[in-house]
Amino acid sequence: MSITIALSKGRIYDETVPLLAAAGIAVTEDIEKSRKLIFETNQSHVRVVLVRASDVPVYVEYGGADLGVAGLDSLIEHGGQGLYQPLDLRIARCRISVAVRNGFDYAHAVKQGARLRIATKYPEIARNFFAAKGVHVDMIKLYGSMELAPLTGMADAIVDLVSTGNTLRANDLVEVEPIMDISSRLIVNQASLKLKQAPLRAIIDAFASAVSKN
Ligand code: AMP
Repeated sequence: MSITIALSKGRIYDETVPLLAAAGIAVTEDIEKSRKLIFETNQSHVRVVLVRASDVPVYVEYGGADLGVAGLDSLIEHGGQGLYQPLDLRIARCRISVAVRNGFDYAHAVKQGARLRIATKYPEIARNFFAAKGVHVDMIKLYGSMELAPLTGMADAIVDLVSTGNTLRANDLVEVEPIMDISSRLIVNQASLKLKQAPLRAIIDAFASAVSKN
């Protein structure tokens, strides 16, 4: 029974490699040196597909992959429907925060009940956060380079992932409010879990045991 695992390039891929190894799975090619999207592994029935981070939940929901590794940010934006989420892998950890241009008095604007223009790739997370605070917002959906939005005057604030804070500092932005901690989760197609129970359980259990040792 073949198993397809959806991953995204970068931190998620790099930090999933040791977990795959714990399950006895190794990708046999250097993905960085290839333009391919499908990779064989040392196990003839297991293959890895590389997709954009925000597409991992979509591939797993619709059965393009049996399982995948997705950031909590991507999962919340997707909605999580049709997905079994058995494990917090505690990898690719960061936080999602509100950031503004240095000098913008965010606390004052919130206190005044000002309507804020928020630029973000994460409108669902941002909308829920500001709704819970009772802050009115106009959401501007972006697909990248969010830092530019406050600098050009297009937005008052951004909602973005922050790890070291270097990207914000380099663009004269300051983090004003953390929203939530983010890490990557193992996600599994619900039908696959029934149809391919034994091989998927073996992978889930190996990941769980590797995570508990980290
Ligand atoms: P940093 O400069 O270390 O704060 O990293 C911030 C930049 O890296 C932002 O552009 C984020 O979108 C991206 N980033 C940070 N952590 C992650 C993560 N765990 N997954 C995906 N992107 C991240």
